Amino acid sequence: MHAEVARSPIVQAHYPMLASMASRVANPQVRNQGTIGGNLCYADPATDPPGCLMALGAQIVLSGPGGERVLPIEDFLVDYYVTALTPGEIVTEIRLPAPAAGADGRYARFLRTAAEHRPLASVALSVRREGAFCVDARLTVGASTPIPARLPRAEALLAGKTVTADLAAEAAEIVAADINAVSDMRGTDDFRRHIVRTVARRTIAELFGVAAD
Ligand SMILES: Cc1cc2nc3c(=O)[nH]c(=O)nc-3n(C[C@H](O)[C@H](O)[C@H](O)COP(=O)(O)OP(=O)(O)OC[C@H]3O[C@@H](n4cnc5c(N)ncnc54)[C@H](O)[C@@H]3O)c2cc1C
Repeated sequence: MHAEVARSPIVQAHYPMLASMASRVANPQVRNQGTIGGNLCYADPATDPPGCLMALGAQIVLSGPGGERVLPIEDFLVDYYVTALTPGEIVTEIRLPAPAAGADGRYARFLRTAAEHRPLASVALSVRREGAFCVDARLTVGASTPIPARLPRAEALLAGKTVTADLAAEAAEIVAADINAVSDMRGTDDFRRHIVRTVARRTIAELFGVAAD
């Protein structure tokens, strides 16, 4: 259950952004019924765990009549409500790499209205850093896209630099430009890009301790 992930001392100690994400999924009823495996396998785009797990470099273990296979989450999530699961297969494990020295991260979700539970946009940022210096970064956007995706141009901009408010804003512009934003009754693609730009800028700035409005 999401609530178990949120309160696990092991997850809290080693993957605090994952625990923090799980503590904010939907509402207490959903967190105490919904599972991270069911969440991934259903592949609803307006959810939280997939983008967070992608930023953390998750591998998904699938078991079925043909044996076991391990896929990077990028290959497990195929499209809107489509995964790489074949008939008879189930997800049996989600593996995360051990956190490296200097590992840090943030998961941010934006709700269109306070009464909505599902995110309109999400940004997950997993980095190795030395103070405000970014050694490397994995940045994903979800919920506003058919499936979460990494943003390689923004990651490359941040890597090997001291992050300033201006650099955070520049990276966020790239993020907004590069996402495959969906347009639906909850928001147009332009609106989603605007929200993602702001959420990404604030998330980067907050993680590196630089001022952001
Ligand atoms: C009102 C509401 C609000 C929600 N808001 C959010 C939100 O804000 N953020 C968010 O991230 N999620 C949200 N969710 C989704 C929720 O977190 C659950 O993940 C989702 O509802 C799936 O439920 P479940 O985990 O019980 O899976 P199930 O309903 O049991 O399963 C979903 C599907 O996956 C299959 N499945 C389940 N486990 C496996 C497995 N291990 N291997 C293979 N196939 C499997 C099932 O057969 C089924 O087809 C919300 C759900 C509801 C109902």
